[in-house]
Amino acid sequence: MNRRNFLTTATATSAALALGGCNESNRQAIDYSKHPSAKDKDTKHVNINRGKKTIIKLATSWPAHFPIMGIGVERFAKRIKDISGGSLEIKLYPKNTLVPALAVFDACSSGQIDAFHSGPYYWKGKNSAFSLYSGIPFGFTAEEINSWMLFGGGLDLWREQYDRYNLYPFMGGNTNIQMGGWFRKPINSLVDMQGLKMRIPGLGGEVFSKMGVNPILLPAGDIYTSLERGVIDATEWVGPALDIKMGFYKIAPYYYSGWHEPGSILELTFNKGSWNKLVSEHKAMIEVASSEMNSNMTYEFHAQNIHAFQELKNLNVNIMQYPKDVIDAGKIALGEVVTELSANNEDFAKVYNSIDKYLHLSKEWSDTSLRYFLNQRS
Ligand code: CA
Repeated sequence: MNRRNFLTTATATSAALALGGCNESNRQAIDYSKHPSAKDKDTKHVNINRGKKTIIKLATSWPAHFPIMGIGVERFAKRIKDISGGSLEIKLYPKNTLVPALAVFDACSSGQIDAFHSGPYYWKGKNSAFSLYSGIPFGFTAEEINSWMLFGGGLDLWREQYDRYNLYPFMGGNTNIQMGGWFRKPINSLVDMQGLKMRIPGLGGEVFSKMGVNPILLPAGDIYTSLERGVIDATEWVGPALDIKMGFYKIAPYYYSGWHEPGSILELTFNKGSWNKLVSEHKAMIEVASSEMNSNMTYEFHAQNIHAFQELKNLNVNIMQYPKDVIDAGKIALGEVVTELSANNEDFAKVYNSIDKYLHLSKEWSDTSLRYFLNQRS
């Protein structure tokens, strides 16, 4: 068929379809059951996997069906099953069903599991630099940390440093901005923070420690009782969506806006060997589906927070802000913590320098654009 004839035929068929015509010749043209790709349907999925089904054992630090984080990983697993046509299966092991919640890093590093979903700041005992991949007090918002990770060199640094542990990380969600915590009594000045016993982990805990607070680490299941009995005076957790389920408002009615975790990253991390063994199509599927999980979790936190916040207000929770001297002391304390950790660990210094440079630029732009807008909108 010469070019002219081809164009004529195609145009005629399109016209017939557009007019709703359904003669024998154009019915054949849209009969997909006779299309070559349909005949190959069953073998195509096998081809994706070079002939066999791959199973990824993924352990999480969250209980089964845990709101937003746990459910988000379950959706990710379902998504992978669907887009791989079943050739790749993510087999989920919630907290403690295969490995303890905070042993997932080691279990993945050693190859006992193929992957885990958790938060990088849990591993600061292995390398203080890892806490920075979750974010820093007074640091990046969720949007800014995603930007630094993807386009500011953050993810490259993270992969370079995790490589020594035989691990390959992806962003796996973001808690979005967290609240400052629940207090049994109001904080009127920095004086009220002195000696206060507060459950607060991570870099935030180190900053609060320098401000005179006594940070206490407690498993999630012990926080409510400890607060109720006065073993602790205050606790931070996440934000309205998850906090309301913990019931803290019943015993500590002062709820403070926060600055210690302005956009904490969650991670989806693979054992390097398990990752390298995947066929390229499966790698691409994980890249796409983890990116979807990362953004969906961030947005779901926002969505659930706005509703839970209204519920908390209806429960007469006192919505508070820290006094200025607490904020000022927090910034000074952060500077001290960062100086000490940078001096003791060159990995920390390297990551912090990258964050600091990016944050400096990001603040100027965000203040000019987003802060201006939010101030006008309110
Ligand atoms: Ca928190």
